[in-house]
Amino acid sequence: MGELIKIENLRHTYPGYEGREVVALTDINLTVNQGEFVAVIGTNGSGKSTLAKHLNALILPTGGRCLVNGIDTTDAERVWDIRQQVGMVFQNPDNQIVAAVVEEDVAFGPENLGIPPAEIARRVTEALELVNMEEYRHHGPHLLSGGQKQRVAIAGVLAMRPKCLVLDEPTAMLDPRGRKEVLDSVCRLNKEGITVVYITHFMEEAVVAHRVVVMEQGQISLTGTPAEIFSQVERLKTMGLDVPPAAEVAACLRKRGLKLDKNIISDEQLVVALCP
Ligand code: ADP
Ligand code: MG
Repeated sequence: MGELIKIENLRHTYPGYEGREVVALTDINLTVNQGEFVAVIGTNGSGKSTLAKHLNALILPTGGRCLVNGIDTTDAERVWDIRQQVGMVFQNPDNQIVAAVVEEDVAFGPENLGIPPAEIARRVTEALELVNMEEYRHHGPHLLSGGQKQRVAIAGVLAMRPKCLVLDEPTAMLDPRGRKEVLDSVCRLNKEGITVVYITHFMEEAVVAHRVVVMEQGQISLTGTPAEIFSQVERLKTMGLDVPPAAEVAACLRKRGLKLDKNIISDEQLVVALCP
């Protein structure tokens, strides 16, 4: 698998107020391969959003570098190329919807790329189908649920045919049903081959990733498979992070003497371990 994103010794310092600089990222090294699903977790202020913004050149390194498909994000002439390849989805669905009808909203990106109307129509249909929102194409976005709006926002990014989706806490404002709809859509897109970088504070969402990256005070403090990361219950708690409910329950049961595999991190695995 080829490298899609390569971050080398990345540093980001914000100017801050009254000359007091804020060092948001120090010495980040991270490679994301084509087709991978990487979850990023970390407490508030650990630098997750700052890292995400580097992935499509919304901000530029103050040290080190960030390459997207081999293009340095500081290459001003390639900025739109980068933004087409790496699409961003943010937390608040209401801030991301621009049109009065769902299909017009999804068409907005490709229209700005100057794509011919027939091709745009094809892409809009395909993008809405991929997030299971095809039946709402003529609806007004304001009438949709949060989870539906987020899926329209994702479709709007998909219509640009990106290689990679970067989602910064896309489910933080949603109810459990909306969260599930969005995560299911993201998993489906990843299975179709799209690379995913998914920032979340819901640990049970990070469990579905191929790899988990843990951020702490502007650095990557841990990285590994979900089982490798979430089996470290005590360490994560010391860092101020939650662990997936199943991992936590399994840890408690182990303390009471039950022999359970240390890699239990999902509800399903716990159920199977307790009732084989
Ligand atoms: P996270 O997304 O993990 O909560 P952020 O990347 O938003 O973390 O923030 C990392 C650090 O950078 C925090 O200390 C935050 O206060 C600071 N920060 C973020 N954005 C700005 C900004 N525009 N100006 C100054 N400091 C900022
Ligand atoms: Mg953030």
